[in-house]
Amino acid sequence: MTDFQLALLNWYKANARELPWRKADHIDPYAVWMSEVMLQQTTVGVVIPYFLRWMERFPTLESLALASEEEVLVYWQGLGYYSRCRNLLAAVRIVKAQGWPQSVLEWLALPGVGDYTAGAVTSIAQGIPAALVDGNVERVFARLTCNPKINPALKADAWHWAKVNLYEPDPGTWNQALMELGATICTPKNPSCGACPVSRYCQAFQNGTVADYPSPKPAKEWIEVFHQAWVFVNAGKFGLVQAQPGEWWAGMWHSPRGKETELIERFGNLSRERVGIIKHVVTKHKISVEVYRVQSDQLDLRWFAKSELDELAISSPGRKILTLVNSAVQPRLELE
Ligand code: SF4
Repeated sequence: MTDFQLALLNWYKANARELPWRKADHIDPYAVWMSEVMLQQTTVGVVIPYFLRWMERFPTLESLALASEEEVLVYWQGLGYYSRCRNLLAAVRIVKAQGWPQSVLEWLALPGVGDYTAGAVTSIAQGIPAALVDGNVERVFARLTCNPKINPALKADAWHWAKVNLYEPDPGTWNQALMELGATICTPKNPSCGACPVSRYCQAFQNGTVADYPSPKPAKEWIEVFHQAWVFVNAGKFGLVQAQPGEWWAGMWHSPRGKETELIERFGNLSRERVGIIKHVVTKHKISVEVYRVQSDQLDLRWFAKSELDELAISSPGRKILTLVNSAVQPRLELE
């Protein structure tokens, strides 16, 4: 073991946060897998309540494999990136049928499993020596080595570094220690270098250039999208459609939306009342949705009572739209 590894592992053993999927006495590969997929693109604080609710409803691989996609999406909603959830369910069903993968390569063969998830589950849940790089590790690496690159070159260098520096006798603890350092000490803004167990190995700290790493990303080129959502209401019910494969939020329910011309072409130029506007960001799209209430009983919609909406897979912008209309028309709906 190198001095660098020893310093980081000792710090982690004394400082690791207690997390619901981290149990000192028992590692549940299924729980680790679920948590690692949920943790992509978001933080531990956001994930914990979703994870606990998920594990209460789907406590085992078998229980999840047997659930319907629609129900699983309901438990995922709020975490975003719904294709990840659909892939997860497909992968879980394969594992149930074929048994647990036993190597990074076997994990990578499952739908939606990328290098990070494969490295995390094999190392943390199965003790197989496998490196991983997430955003935390990438940042720690950039600062430790004063790497000036931006992605994808930075990520490639970080993967190489993570493989070379992996502590093979306990790869799961090592990988978690690196990520924990990035999440709690070597944070994106104002890292706590004074409390860092590896500051003496950190080139950026030694040079006084921590603020320069990682190098800033070039500004995103945003695509502005202007849509309308027509919220059909009739007799206290909402008329919804289900997003089709290939559309945003596929499989989830929402009020019909799109360009005004598309909606008029589909439903006719119906009388409608403007309720407000919501804004949402999806990858590089900035979406503004003008929300209209439409009193109509279009037959080709599925109608749901307000009380049924909580049990329905609805994306977070879809829910915002319904809430906006519902709060605006509450007295009228109750009279109907
Ligand atoms: S010394 Fe500071 S910049 Fe370097 S790894 Fe530690 S927290 Fe990060």
